[in-house]
Amino acid sequence: MPATMLAERFHAATRTITLEEIKVPEPGPGQVLIKVAFCGICQSDLSLIEGHFPTTLDVVTQGHEASGVIAKVGPGVHGWAEGDRVIPSAGRPCGQCRACRRGAFTDCYDLHLMAFAYDGAWAEYHVAQAAGLTRIPDNVDMAQAALLADAVSTPFAAVVRTAQVHVGNAVGVWGVGGVGTHLVQLAKAAGAVPIIAVDINDVALERAKRLGADYTFRSDDKDLGAKIREATGGRMLDVAFDAVGIRQTVRQAIDHLDTNGRAVSVGLSDQDIDAGPFLQFNLQRKQLRGHLGYQSIDIGILAEMLSYGRLDLSESISQIVPLSRVTDGIEALASKKGNPIRILVEP
Ligand SMILES: [Zn+2]
Ligand SMILES: [Zn+2]
Repeated sequence: MPATMLAERFHAATRTITLEEIKVPEPGPGQVLIKVAFCGICQSDLSLIEGHFPTTLDVVTQGHEASGVIAKVGPGVHGWAEGDRVIPSAGRPCGQCRACRRGAFTDCYDLHLMAFAYDGAWAEYHVAQAAGLTRIPDNVDMAQAALLADAVSTPFAAVVRTAQVHVGNAVGVWGVGGVGTHLVQLAKAAGAVPIIAVDINDVALERAKRLGADYTFRSDDKDLGAKIREATGGRMLDVAFDAVGIRQTVRQAIDHLDTNGRAVSVGLSDQDIDAGPFLQFNLQRKQLRGHLGYQSIDIGILAEMLSYGRLDLSESISQIVPLSRVTDGIEALASKKGNPIRILVEP
């Protein structure tokens, strides 16, 4: 085991990034040390750098979507050993609040987020809580496994839990970038029919079609309503996801719902939500649900789906950059050049 390692460090005061040689951390009680294989670059990492997210630490290693191999097991850890292939959970619940006491760790009032409240995995090694680990099946690729923490599990939880997509539901997805592409794939896995992708970007629409959308429409098409009506045989959408997080797209999603339809907002921004006139919303008994995050069990289910070939994420890895060039990856995501789904860092 080396004494030091290369790690990305975000400095809150100057909002700058450095690559530093720092001490390899020691796993404490209940923790393991993971040799990081891959770690994704997420929009929320950009939000921290750009100052849209509050900082909790003066200096922190970023990256919260990792896969790796256990390099060292801390005291009191059972069921895990060196060499195990794992995905760490991206949050540490406090274990003491009301939510934690009833086992609802996702709803923890004091959840510590990886790469915000403690060091993440844009580094050669990462310390994780053993309780939050998911085992990666032998036949699952380590790069695809890294996508399961957040990039795919957040859309999964939105489809399965928040939207409760059922077999035969007509589903629309506004914004088929990194999140929306996976919403399309997972809605298909859940049995949605038809699936309609809506975006302003023709290349993203083409990709969505390849990955399972039955129809692709441009959001600026003045006949959008008529086209969705025709595609759904006149009934409109049972579920409409907005993966963009802006006023106009959430409004479009809500406007195209069937009676009792549910719109699920997955995109994040500081804009106000526009749900349309009360009359229409209430007459049709529409619902609007906010979504964030996933549960550890979701990562396990997705790992099994990958293992059994129920899900193919090979198109989701747009680029892999070495840790030494993490800033190139950040810039590529920020500029959206080439419509990346996920860019991975390889330490
Ligand atoms: Zn993320
Ligand atoms: Zn808690």
